Amino acid sequence: KKGESQVTVLDKAVRFMDVGGLHDVKEAIRMKMVQPFLTPELYDRYGIRAGGGVLLYGPPGCGKTFLGKATAGECQAKLFHVQVADILHTHVGASEQNIRALFDSARQQKPAVLFLDEMDAIGYHRGKASSPWMRGIIDQLLSEMDRASMRADRLLVMGATNMPWDVDPAFHRPGRFEKMVFVGPPDRAARETIFQLKLDGRPVEPLDYAQLAAWTELYSGADIEYVVELATEQVLHDILAKGTERPIRMSDLRESIAATRPTTIEW
Ligand code: ATP
Repeated sequence: KKGESQVTVLDKAVRFMDVGGLHDVKEAIRMKMVQPFLTPELYDRYGIRAGGGVLLYGPPGCGKTFLGKATAGECQAKLFHVQVADILHTHVGASEQNIRALFDSARQQKPAVLFLDEMDAIGYHRGKASSPWMRGIIDQLLSEMDRASMRADRLLVMGATNMPWDVDPAFHRPGRFEKMVFVGPPDRAARETIFQLKLDGRPVEPLDYAQLAAWTELYSGADIEYVVELATEQVLHDILAKGTERPIRMSDLRESIAATRPTTIEW
């Protein structure tokens, strides 16, 4: 069954502290989703309506999916990561069935965070929202989202997209993706933190993290992760060729930065 086989359940806990920068984003998710999930009574007492999710948007590789994992980690919930395109099926009615099965299976394994990635796959440009086929799919997803309850089902729904303008406006109504949160390229301080996070635990000489951040303007978190992988591979290559171990140096990282380009530019 196509839709179900694409569901990834991740058990390894990622937490907000593993996400570099994005302080406001983490705070928004904490207030809107994590905290009402953990202490619903508090929200009730103060008359703040809980429920509804956030839609994360922004260039690729800047941590949307990673934030989904971290949200699940903070809630001590399972993460169901779904590419929306994978639940689509050309047979009339089959996508709707996939959507139902997906929500049912998340509910059965509660507490769960259901992360709907690439929400634009059912948007205007790609899917022609006006076609009856697409309308049926959108309506099914909307009704499942309305039915999903943080309280009774212990289910949170999050969405992500690189193309927010393609997401059907019906998804922004109360109880659905009420809040749009921009997940942008890391600023200088965040890049410093991301270098530290990704190099943590590897043998390194004392590194000038501020310099690394200065060299990587417009690099995404994923780009920085790649820079670190590339440098580390190069060092290993060296070690195996020479037969002596050595730490990762500034010069290794500088070279891998020079060999790469920031990917957020094209967004
Ligand atoms: P896409 O739109 O392509 O799905 P995305 O925004 O969902 O991109 P992620 O998959 O979350 O990007 O990021 C890719 C990887 O980059 C993550 O697994 C993570 O290791 C790293 N990464 C990205 N941003 C950060 C960050 N702010 N802090 C730490 N790691 C990050």
